[in-house]
Amino acid sequence: MHQTHDLHAHSTASDGVLSPTDVVRRARRQGVEVLALTDHDTTAGLAEAHAAARERGMRLVPGVEVSVTWRSGTVHIVGLMIDAQDARLQAGLAQLRRHREGRAEQIDRRLARAGIPNALAGARELAGTAAVTRTHFARHLLRAGHASNMREVFQRFLGRGKPGFVSGTWCTLDEAVGWIRGAGGHAVIAHPTRYKFTATRLRRLFDDFRECGGTAIEVVSGAQGHGEVLQLAEYAQRYEFLGSQGSDFHAPDTPWAELGRFRSLPPGCAPVWGDASWQRRLADVA
Ligand code: AMP
Ligand code: MN
Ligand code: MN
Ligand code: MN
Repeated sequence: MHQTHDLHAHSTASDGVLSPTDVVRRARRQGVEVLALTDHDTTAGLAEAHAAARERGMRLVPGVEVSVTWRSGTVHIVGLMIDAQDARLQAGLAQLRRHREGRAEQIDRRLARAGIPNALAGARELAGTAAVTRTHFARHLLRAGHASNMREVFQRFLGRGKPGFVSGTWCTLDEAVGWIRGAGGHAVIAHPTRYKFTATRLRRLFDDFRECGGTAIEVVSGAQGHGEVLQLAEYAQRYEFLGSQGSDFHAPDTPWAELGRFRSLPPGCAPVWGDASWQRRLADVA
């Protein structure tokens, strides 16, 4: 259960509650040796995380989680070992964060119509300098007493088809993979089973992703069960994708998504960090 590589985590640079330094500190305590910070549509937390990791003799993998619209649904593509200075990547991420602004205003209007005024002001306050995500809306609604836990907030207000739901039109799969690869990184499909796709649709995603130049999928994510892990490992083998693993950590109060705590990659699944280019880049970023 305790893993040395955690390649998916969030900080206050997007919708996590800990600062990049505190994420690194907590990861260290959890026994993580190689941590990727993968905030939604931004690399703003990487410099701080990198400094904190260096102080503690840990390796920080520069990462990002890109919001994608694929066949009218939302999927997330994690970029690992990216060059955060890459201009094309940064232009793409800036465009996504601008889109978040307009979408947050739409969510605000929809919630107001459902009888919850001023939700955006509350979400903005919680987001600080970060772009507003549904997680910020959710935390505000919780705080204001509209639900008793995160699950319920999404079920009642922010999930697909609910009064405050706005899907957003993010970048294309091709753009996300292109930006990540252009920045020297590995493109990874985040938490493939969380989209609740049918097997046919999931295979189509893998096909499209491979065609775009995608190289890896998350075989292990947070609270995933043993069966799901085996199934994803099988897909990885069939598609010749490398396997990644990560907690998708957001906050300390969610034991099912704790830094460094998740199942192991099954034997026979080639880890993304076993790649020769990964090892070279890791030496560079240390
Ligand atoms: P956004 O990118 O603004 O649509 O926000 C998506 C984020 O909302 C995800 O990255 C999760 O952190 C969070 N989220 C989505 N669904 C749930 C849920 N059912 N429970 C808790 N958090 C969720
Ligand atoms: Mn999130
Ligand atoms: Mn995600
Ligand atoms: Mn995530």
